[in-house]
Amino acid sequence: MYDVKNNLHQVLSDLPQGVRLVAISKYHPASYIEAAYAEGQRLFGESHEQELRQKHEALPRDIEWHFIGHLQTNKVKYIAPYVSMIEAVDSLRLLREIEKQAARCGRVIRVLLELHIAEEETKYGLTPDALRQLLDGGEWRQMEHVRICGLMMMASNVDDSSQIRREFRQAHQLFDECKQRWFADSDDFCERSWGMSHDYRIAVTEGSTMVRVGTLIFGPRVY
Ligand SMILES: *Cc1c(COP(=O)(O)O)cnc(C)c1O
Repeated sequence: MYDVKNNLHQVLSDLPQGVRLVAISKYHPASYIEAAYAEGQRLFGESHEQELRQKHEALPRDIEWHFIGHLQTNKVKYIAPYVSMIEAVDSLRLLREIEKQAARCGRVIRVLLELHIAEEETKYGLTPDALRQLLDGGEWRQMEHVRICGLMMMASNVDDSSQIRREFRQAHQLFDECKQRWFADSDDFCERSWGMSHDYRIAVTEGSTMVRVGTLIFGPRVY
């Protein structure tokens, strides 16, 4: 096994106060999660519903699970009973389904809206205009079982750190705009989820409140 303990503490020691680590454990066995858990880590992120379900069932109940991947609407019902946050909401349709399933469970589910800024066309997420449109529509205000807690984004997968920085900055500006226009009176809207293994150090200097780091802690994934 990778030296999970050492790697975890390395990453944690890099994070300024107020920035949380979501340890991304997708494709890694439960034993890796247990190693991080033994060091006090309680917040983990997964991107596939079935894998998350199996780990949720096998591992301690006080783990906080974030769903970080692209979520199909027909999968929401499986994670709604226990998921702590759904990070990558990229459509009103998905938001409606989360509202419906959270209501059935008698829960309020915290979500982030996923912003698409990166150049890659393959990535999911709302463009800045689609994000504004969704929030302007106002339907989300009637959703009593969904709490929009901020934005999530992935920067372009490039070596050019100035481009990455630019994208984080743009995301931060959009966060500020959303805060001002739609969430000025909501303390809930406070999370900026950006930064992965290769760019989390840049992310924390550009206002991230939550980094999602996998490879640096658990090693390369075997797909
Ligand atoms: C896999 C994944 C990560 C973690 O990536 P690493 O490069 O392993 O740190 C972060 N965010 C999302 C959305 C992911 O899918």
